[in-house]
Amino acid sequence: VPFGYQDIDPAEKQGRVGGIFSNVAGKYDIMNDVMSGGMHRLWKDRFVRRVKPRAGEDILDMAGGTGDIAFRMVQSGANVTVADINQDMLDVGIERAVARGEDRLVWSCQNAEALKFPDRSFHAYTIVFGIRNVTYIDKALAEAHRVLRYGGRFFCMEFATTEWPVFGEVYDAYSHHLMPRLGQMIAGDADSYRYLAESIRRFPKPPVFEQMIKDAGFTATRVEPILGGAVNIHSGWKA
Ligand code: SAM
Repeated sequence: VPFGYQDIDPAEKQGRVGGIFSNVAGKYDIMNDVMSGGMHRLWKDRFVRRVKPRAGEDILDMAGGTGDIAFRMVQSGANVTVADINQDMLDVGIERAVARGEDRLVWSCQNAEALKFPDRSFHAYTIVFGIRNVTYIDKALAEAHRVLRYGGRFFCMEFATTEWPVFGEVYDAYSHHLMPRLGQMIAGDADSYRYLAESIRRFPKPPVFEQMIKDAGFTATRVEPILGGAVNIHSGWKA
């Protein structure tokens, strides 16, 4: 039975999301290229330019999956930990790291809602296309705030539905019809991509999400829209 976010009870969401990413892990990187026409690479480059990782800093890339953000950030000489709830996604990332000869990353299986790191462990916290999959977003934001040092930076890139008139409709049609078909063709899994499209529609609008970031204790919050707000970079500061 196809399912969307609306059918998922919070108690079940974590397990469902887990199943989805385990199913798609092996095809995750190629699917990103196909579905975004390669654009996700540019968004990720731009995101990392905003983070400005520095040598010697400790950075947590939460919901880091197969490592796209971490591979970019580690080039600066920062100490990057990739954490993700799904070991299958991390395993693909570890294989990629081995293939690249990248041995500076730390890979850790953890839930964003209940991190095992002590308070004030990191200079920066990043989460890219991950937070909408978390069941209790407020808990994940509270944990981000807890594990950051004073003066630490929070960065989150996430999709949103856009207000651009024609683009919004095209995007809707794309995500509801073409995305599940591509998911079927390439990953043999339409349902997972149906869920991913639905989860974007359900995610709070940028101003609402920005307020949640403030409520978690961050100040100097900012939202940088990309592609008419279809993708947004949110940031904040732990004062
Ligand atoms: N950041 C990577 C990227 O941009 O390519 C991966 C993004 S992928 C769309 C979403 C990731 O969020 C998956 O790897 C999934 O396992 C992870 N995730 C979902 N719920 C999570 C949670 N509660 N805690 C940690 N990671 C979670």
